[in-house]
Amino acid sequence: MQNSIIILDSNTANKIAAGEVVEKPSSVIKELAENSLDAKASAIDIQIAGGGIQYMRVTDNGTGMSEEDARKSLLRHATSKLQSEEDLLTVKTMGFRGEALPSIASVSRFSMITRLHDAQMAVKVTVTGGEDMQVEQTGSHTGTSVIVEDLFFNVPARRKFLRSANTERRHIADVVGKLALSRPDVRFTLASGERQVIKTPGTGSLSDAVTGIYGNVAKQNLLPVENISGEIKITGFTGKPSMLKSSRGWQTIIVNGRIITSRFIAKAIDHAYQSKLPKGGYPFCLLQIELDTQAIDVNVHPQKSEVRFSDEQSVYRAVYKAVSDALLRPLAQMRSVPEQENANDELEKPEIVDSAAKTFSAREYNAPFKPQIFKVSETALAYNKPDSAQDFFAAREVMAETSIFTGQDQADDNAGQTDIWPLGQIDHAYIIAQSKDSLYLIDQHAAHERVLFDRLCGQQENIPVQELLLPVYVELNPDDAELVSKYQSSFKELCFDVQLAGPDVLKITAVPADIDMQEIEGFIKETALFIRSMKKPDGAELRKEMIAMASCKAAIKAGQQLNMRQMRELTDLLMQTGHPFTCPHGRPVIIKYTTDELKRMFKRT
Ligand code: ADP
Ligand code: MG
Repeated sequence: MQNSIIILDSNTANKIAAGEVVEKPSSVIKELAENSLDAKASAIDIQIAGGGIQYMRVTDNGTGMSEEDARKSLLRHATSKLQSEEDLLTVKTMGFRGEALPSIASVSRFSMITRLHDAQMAVKVTVTGGEDMQVEQTGSHTGTSVIVEDLFFNVPARRKFLRSANTERRHIADVVGKLALSRPDVRFTLASGERQVIKTPGTGSLSDAVTGIYGNVAKQNLLPVENISGEIKITGFTGKPSMLKSSRGWQTIIVNGRIITSRFIAKAIDHAYQSKLPKGGYPFCLLQIELDTQAIDVNVHPQKSEVRFSDEQSVYRAVYKAVSDALLRPLAQMRSVPEQENANDELEKPEIVDSAAKTFSAREYNAPFKPQIFKVSETALAYNKPDSAQDFFAAREVMAETSIFTGQDQADDNAGQTDIWPLGQIDHAYIIAQSKDSLYLIDQHAAHERVLFDRLCGQQENIPVQELLLPVYVELNPDDAELVSKYQSSFKELCFDVQLAGPDVLKITAVPADIDMQEIEGFIKETALFIRSMKKPDGAELRKEMIAMASCKAAIKAGQQLNMRQMRELTDLLMQTGHPFTCPHGRPVIIKYTTDELKRMFKRT
């Protein structure tokens, strides 16, 4: 057979390009809405029917086009957004490839009505399956309206792969929601048939946009993210660890105004929440990342949904830091998201997988806790003693029995002395406690972890050390062993004496007093994992992480029976910490029910 090369006609080339750009109705909506944004629209109204397969219309109040530009816009590689190749390096518009409109027009019944602001008339361009262009004058508002009907009517193979109208509608809602979050300054509406699905006010406030998309219920469970120091600026909202979804559907990453997906950024978010989230649970996270346009390459994907970063490592660390700071920020400083009435009843309410979301409410999380009447002296005194943690309660028992503390024992029986007093223990894991007007469930491990974490953070120099009589040897793979040994001085700061004793062996001769012998190997291995996945963390990051891990290792575990005095001790200490409501990993420590909530639950209102 003889090979003969032909040049594809432009319509065929467009259809092939459509294979990359137009995957489903939501990809059409994304391209059209991005064109509207590029045309400086301040309002974008989207109407769909039949999941967009039947009908989609995107209307904007942007610049509009002249008749000549409207015709040209349907030619492949026709774009007003790039003049030269160099512009690609600094491109700020959403589009730049000049292939969306011709691709969409080649696989649908397409029409576009557009009018420049100073034009008398609008022009209407109609194309069917990429052919037979009709142009006529018509009356219309200024701006542009694009209508796409019968998507893939001429490409049955593609049409077959479309999902149900409901599924495609959900994809569209997702895309429009994310676009609206990326541009809180633009008013977005999405209607499916008669139903209003999304409506954002375009006030410029991200918080308002979040309400428009997710409603007030979800928003009450969000914490502000703000990390504006350095080259990489990150703002947004991240969900409390109790509000989870079974997919990453609640995670939106916006880089320089572009919505992207990124595995390593998703990893950094996971990392900030730690592996402590239940398996398969993903928190809400909306991040707007801004960095120098030169530091990213946007032209790596036809749908422009990925970007390449010149310095992934810094971005990873900035995201990790921004999200973990948001989760750990002292409660008193936390500003709650202002509430606003929103009449968006039709809105699909986000699913809240974890029922704790409703009990661990924004109010408790945000309320600065007032530990007014604690017996600070006694507990603080005992606490500063370098007891090793496993002996901690035992030591406390003994001390309580000595004469110095006998007066205190009577006070212990007087529940009015403290704000919170324990009533008992469930499942050897949770403490039930009460205050004057509330019931509390306290996770004993998380509570102790928080107490130890705060104490270790506060003890700069004088962390009590235990020199090991017999060194502990930890086997690691050679890379990790070397990596850990590079951070020797950071280990030293926390009283770990760690040396390389062979290509794949570390020798540990001293550890902080709180750490149990059996925990050392696990601790070193987890630290190695952290260093590896953080790629060269700085000393402060490593220190914080090691303190968190050490606290976790040293804290009492679920399954340990506690007597009343121990429970009392722990709740007192917990309430003295700055952040009694979350553990160092951001998981809830206390779940609180006010008497009002109890009343409501028992339908006594
Ligand atoms: P790109 O966005 O990559 O430039 P498109 O095929 O999406 O390519 O659009 C082609 C051109 O048509 C754009 O560069 C722009 O000049 C014009 N255009 C498309 N949509 C609109 C719109 N809604 N308002 C004004 N101009 C538009
Ligand atoms: Mg475009």
